Amino acid sequence: MTVVLHSGGRETKALCRKWALKGGKPFHKGALQERMRLPKGARGKNPLLRTWKQWLFIVAALLPVLCLIACTSVPPTRRGPTGKREPEIRVLLLEEADEVTIDFNGPVQVTAQGGFPLFDTEGAGSIDVSAQQSSLYFRQAPSGSVSTTDGEVVINPGKQSMLSIRGVSYPGRIVVSATAGRISLVNILPIETYLEGVLPHEMGDPGPHGYAALQAQAIAARTYALAKMRKRRYERFDVVATVMDQLYRGTEGAYRLATGAARDTRGRVLEYQDELVRAYYSACCGGHTSDIRRVWPEREPAAYLTGIRDIDGISKKTCCREYRRFRWRHSFSGRELGQIIRETLPRELGINEDNIGAFRDVRILERSASGRVTSIEIETSKGLFRVQGDRIRWVLMIDPENNQILPSTMFDISKSMEGNTASFVSITGGGNGHGVGMCQSGAIGMAKQGYTYQMILSHYYTGCRVKKEY
Ligand SMILES: [Zn+2]
Repeated sequence: MTVVLHSGGRETKALCRKWALKGGKPFHKGALQERMRLPKGARGKNPLLRTWKQWLFIVAALLPVLCLIACTSVPPTRRGPTGKREPEIRVLLLEEADEVTIDFNGPVQVTAQGGFPLFDTEGAGSIDVSAQQSSLYFRQAPSGSVSTTDGEVVINPGKQSMLSIRGVSYPGRIVVSATAGRISLVNILPIETYLEGVLPHEMGDPGPHGYAALQAQAIAARTYALAKMRKRRYERFDVVATVMDQLYRGTEGAYRLATGAARDTRGRVLEYQDELVRAYYSACCGGHTSDIRRVWPEREPAAYLTGIRDIDGISKKTCCREYRRFRWRHSFSGRELGQIIRETLPRELGINEDNIGAFRDVRILERSASGRVTSIEIETSKGLFRVQGDRIRWVLMIDPENNQILPSTMFDISKSMEGNTASFVSITGGGNGHGVGMCQSGAIGMAKQGYTYQMILSHYYTGCRVKKEY
């Protein structure tokens, strides 16, 4: 149910204009039913003869609704050579917020569930949103008007305006919803515009000589996003705007090369046997990419994600060797590591904190062919704890306060022992990230050597092909 408590005079007039039928009567559900009734005496006559009259009434009655749909929908996206249109993606920007302020620099239109117009504004301003259970409350500035409604609300910027949240501008429209008094915001926008907001944060600026790496990154990010859209089509959103999926910050940090790379590769995706690839990527593989089966044993394996040596075929050198964290070292006292595992082991292994005990030792049990540690054992006064796969990075955190995990599982451990307890632990390693799929710093290294984006992608995703999706 939607209730407009109060809206400013100008907004109310605009609303009335939109919903008025001939004669200036406000349009409402009853009015629609009234206008759709058959003309008197039509029953029993030639159905074709009376149909045009019915249609006239129906078209007249639906005209305002059709106008509203035309006004509130995003302009149609362009059709590609394959005949498919560029799709829109739903990006979760914020979840479980108490309150949120949405700023805008031009007219916006706010519609409630079913396309019912809640209010619209002219000029720059802001909307403060709060929630109680599933009800949303809106306070507009500068007018001070207040509105409330149940269910989802769509905030649609006009042609020349853009919405922004906490100082970041987002193209497209924003869907606001509330569950148990907590607010969620989902940004809906054309996928190509989304990619222009992802590339600057997922790869940074490799410079003009690294352009082919940006193009490869655009294709990997597009493929990843499209695969998520298919997988999550019945959910509220397709991707989250954080590293959980791909980092997206609206128009913030956009720069010419990244935008160009997205546009130059428009609609191009990576396929394996006519299926979209699961295009994982990470910052630096340390010299050898990972086999997905050893990193995430619970996920489906793939022939193109089994791990390769990251060697440039021409120079025979490691592609990512110039990455600043190609090699790294982190050291802990036994006491520090004890504090860390008391926090991380219960969370990662689902064990009660009381059962962890005092830290004694940490040992590597197993490695994969890529040199990554696939299994470690932590010994405490209460027993042995085994940790496997990429979870190791979340257990051996380097800075739990700032949520910094171990850069990679490609590491070795050296220790100083006092009796049966490690008093000092030093971890020396290579690479940054899970290592599955494309090595971003290696891609930049290859681009600088003159490789094309097709060559870069086929190096990291064995047997995959670039295809035009739209
Ligand atoms: Zn690499």
